[in-house]
Amino acid sequence: MKKLVGLYTGPEMLIDQPAYFDALKQEIGLTHVTGFSSYKLGDETRAKNPMPPGGEGFAPSRGQDDDGAMRRGIDIAHDMDLKVWVCTSGWHGGGDRYDEMCMKDMHNHPISQVPELRYAREQYSMAYCPSNEKLNEWLRTIFAEVAASYDVDGFDLTHCRYTAPAFLHNLFGCGCPRCASLAAERGYDFEKMRHSVLAFWERIQHLDAREIREAGERGVGLLDLSQWLGVDAGLVQWFEFRAGVITANLKLFKETACEAAGRDIVFGSEFLALLCVAYNGIMEARMTLGETVVVFGLGVVGQLTCQLARWSGARRVGGVPARTAPGGGSCYRCG
Ligand SMILES: [Zn+2]
Repeated sequence: MKKLVGLYTGPEMLIDQPAYFDALKQEIGLTHVTGFSSYKLGDETRAKNPMPPGGEGFAPSRGQDDDGAMRRGIDIAHDMDLKVWVCTSGWHGGGDRYDEMCMKDMHNHPISQVPELRYAREQYSMAYCPSNEKLNEWLRTIFAEVAASYDVDGFDLTHCRYTAPAFLHNLFGCGCPRCASLAAERGYDFEKMRHSVLAFWERIQHLDAREIREAGERGVGLLDLSQWLGVDAGLVQWFEFRAGVITANLKLFKETACEAAGRDIVFGSEFLALLCVAYNGIMEARMTLGETVVVFGLGVVGQLTCQLARWSGARRVGGVPARTAPGGGSCYRCG
């Protein structure tokens, strides 16, 4: 497979500094540019905006009013033999603005109503319910229109996910009635999953500091923890179901885009892209067994890199948060 080398950028950069991209082609073999999101939606698509009145400006992937830069940027990229991927977002982010659209917990309460908790970094970055058909139709329509209207080669999907569990409640949404009936349609016993999730929740409330510290020191993961706490398979099915909800939606997005464009269009999600970044980092580092590894930046890429380093035989793995790392200050979520 041909190696893909991408740069997360925007059309303005290509318009203003084309020589920079020439240099990147020469120096690192740049093949792709992504981050293009200043497309313009037609009236028919705009009419499908799923947000409550007054909140239309918060709809994910809504584009912009002027696509002149986007069209010029695509032309310049293609003249330079670079592939262009459009960047669109999904369910994660903004759910806390509207209780009715926010994902719900296992008691059908909006997660946005959980009182403020200490150390819960993702409490104000919640996801919309990924089974909200009005929102999903909006996203599908955007993929179809953008794929048909612009000469782009792929989509870079960002935030098409549930929210990170740094705010633990995020791990157990969405349990709304709509998602519950979807689970039943797909052959899951929702009540069993619900029981397992609530049992797990109950058990972790009673862990004390010593047990949590010991679990951390031993590298116990979430599923190890669930076994240790004696939780049944319903918890695993819950995560499997949630992954299936996202996957099925993304599959539909891709099919809709390809059909509208009449050609194959590549879809990439940030999670796999980030895993590739971490993997490449580990490969480039040429670690040996028993090595001591320090990872600078503990966003998603940093966390994945730490895990891969451990699995690759590192004896000690240490992480330094981005804000304290050399050149730090980047987004704590995205690394
Ligand atoms: Zn839901």
